[in-house]
Amino acid sequence: MQQSELINQIVSEVMKELSLPSQPANVEQQKGISFATSSRAQRTAQQKEVHSYTANHAEYGIYSDIETAITQARQAQKQVARLPMATREKIIANIRKKTLENAGVLSDMAVAETGMGNATDKRAKHQLLAAKTPGIEDITTQAFSGDSGLTLVEQGPFGVIGAITPCTNPSETVLCNTIGMLAAGNTVVFNPHPAAVKVSNYAVHLINQASFEAGGPENIAVSTARPTLESGNAIFQHPDIGLLAVTGGPGVVTAALKSGKRAIGAGAGNPPVLVDETANIKEAAAHIVAGATFDNNLPCIAEKEVIATKKIADELIHYMKQNGCYMAKPQEVERLCETVLEHKNGQPRLNRHCVGKSAIELLKMIGIAPNEEIRCIIFEGQESHILIREELMMPILGIVRAQDVYEGIRIAVALEQGNRHSVHMHSKNVDHLTLFGQEADTAIFVKNAPSYAALGFGGEGFCSFTIASRTGEGLTSARTFTKSRRCVMGDSLCIR
Ligand code: NAD
Repeated sequence: MQQSELINQIVSEVMKELSLPSQPANVEQQKGISFATSSRAQRTAQQKEVHSYTANHAEYGIYSDIETAITQARQAQKQVARLPMATREKIIANIRKKTLENAGVLSDMAVAETGMGNATDKRAKHQLLAAKTPGIEDITTQAFSGDSGLTLVEQGPFGVIGAITPCTNPSETVLCNTIGMLAAGNTVVFNPHPAAVKVSNYAVHLINQASFEAGGPENIAVSTARPTLESGNAIFQHPDIGLLAVTGGPGVVTAALKSGKRAIGAGAGNPPVLVDETANIKEAAAHIVAGATFDNNLPCIAEKEVIATKKIADELIHYMKQNGCYMAKPQEVERLCETVLEHKNGQPRLNRHCVGKSAIELLKMIGIAPNEEIRCIIFEGQESHILIREELMMPILGIVRAQDVYEGIRIAVALEQGNRHSVHMHSKNVDHLTLFGQEADTAIFVKNAPSYAALGFGGEGFCSFTIASRTGEGLTSARTFTKSRRCVMGDSLCIR
């Protein structure tokens, strides 16, 4: 049975058991609900909650029109601005708790709604963001004191932030953005991807529940029931929105940057991974396959193509096969091209039905019945190969052979295509690593680890699902969503 059918079946069983209220359950009724994911009874309770929510779209931050949503977020921001820091932190702690409790349901919903990725990895992403997204501790104050008094530079909120979110990490981006934006004293209006509206809006609903339970206002995050390009553009143009945070492909980031507002642009990547002859080849192969197959290659930071120096290319391929890679023959690669790409006005574009699918599903689409251990499809090609140049977001890795590390760096930089997003390398030579880092000039450079170490998953550092590659903020966190304010006291309060 398909996963989506399974979820639909669970959902209809729950519907039968329930007599759903005709109006939204009030907040008092919903207080204290615990959605642990382990037992069957608890799982059923979670499904009931999802149903109550989907049957009653008009509550907890979801509005039928974007104008009302913005008005509500603006009113909520006035309340947030006056909340004690301790309350802000309490709300954030409750958002973390609800994210953990609902990690399973959110992941199942995302896979069922978008048809992309896998629920186990999505659950890990929710757990990661709950644990490692910075809160108010990320906001710091600078002080200058001397004969002329005391000056503080404090980081204050922008007010209401407009956020556009992708279908690849839908609820992860909503939850992670809200933690950072709220920690900085903002509220947020989301225009989620239409293909992931249910799961994105369910995350918005949970956020407002968390706020209310922790003594905060509702509408700290709001969204619309029917997001469109028009509702996105209304956010871009709205006078009450001071800052945009846009996570998605090149089109939406460019549109935001043209809006005349300040915009944080987290755009597309096509991350190459380079392997030279000084690397631990066995380990490199395991790391590359782990990173490239995580959530079926949906993350923007995931390895999208491999460049191997010719001395170690065969050994790397040998170990990649040991890690569940299927080496496609030339005619199979042609069939993959015809299947995963479409052509519009002579331009290639992704077949959305293939994005985020597993290697097994993709192989079945081209008539191959692989064994169940296959996790990734690999093939050898030139750097000009269309499946190597395009950001596929599928577990398909083209491998390009380079004469030496210097040619490898040139090829990798060309394939990154100026996105300035992410590159990865396996090498023990610090000069090679340094040169690649300088030449690539990207927001992320992972060395000797899977790409997801960049998100704080098995790597040091905090987590973010909005990596501002285009506009240079890098991995965003609470401080990214602040503006600087200088408070000056003349002649007094310096006691040194
Ligand atoms: P997408 O660009 O199709 O959609 C992203 C969002 O933008 C959606 O909400 C969509 O409705 C909206 N949108 C698109 N064009 C718009 C316009 N002109 N005006 C207003 N809104 C518009 O992207 P996707 O398929 O959801 O996500 C995948 C892409 O996002 C990949 O390119 C990936 O690399 C990138 N991405 C980047 C990051 C990052 O942090 N840098 C994170 C996740 C995804």
